[in-house]
Amino acid sequence: QKLTVAIDGPSGSGKSSVSKEAARRLGAAYLDTGAMYRAVTWHALDAGTDLSDAAAVEAAVKAADLFISTDPDLELVTIHGTDVTQAIREPFVSEAVSAVATNLAARAELVSRQRAIINAHERIVAEGRDITTVVAPDANARILLTASEEARLRRRGLQLGGTQSAEALEAQVLARDAKDSTVVNFTVAADGVATVDSSDLDFEQTVTAVLAA
Ligand code: C5P
Repeated sequence: QKLTVAIDGPSGSGKSSVSKEAARRLGAAYLDTGAMYRAVTWHALDAGTDLSDAAAVEAAVKAADLFISTDPDLELVTIHGTDVTQAIREPFVSEAVSAVATNLAARAELVSRQRAIINAHERIVAEGRDITTVVAPDANARILLTASEEARLRRRGLQLGGTQSAEALEAQVLARDAKDSTVVNFTVAADGVATVDSSDLDFEQTVTAVLAA
């Protein structure tokens, strides 16, 4: 029968890699909702959309021809036919993405597309910031994956290969989480949501804890 696993958490909590591995072990599909926010942001920037113009951002998101792979072993995101799988991870996208994420009409559009994707799959693990609360509050399992600020920044630093100074990185990650948390709560587990704190867990232990939650 249908299985939906919802996982939320801040950047650097290990959410993406943990969710992907949990999906593989469950024989489930995998949805990275952050990649959807990133892709529409990339497209808006590419099209010269003024990100401070809320109506323009809303229109761009509603018109977005967005495809995201839900195969945990195939990372692929395209928008209007352009493969943006790598481009959406660039710092200029991370810096701009909150303009889309804090636009409530844009969120409503992406939430509805995310629900459609989730409904189209018999088994799926979906991760983001508002999956346990807004996108799939009726999921079979709902998990908030947290980690101490120190652990999150350490992981982000490793992920980006140390190309940015620790201070710049820290400021960037904290600023993005602060902006994001004005529209979605991903720091405190909602009612019925299990918290997994990965600060002192390695990858395998975190996957195990998520699968047990
Ligand atoms: O998870 P990731 O860091 O790739 O997400 C990028 C951005 O997308 C977040 O900083 C946040 O602004 C937005 N986001 C969101 N709601 C989600 C997933 C991501 O607002 N469910």
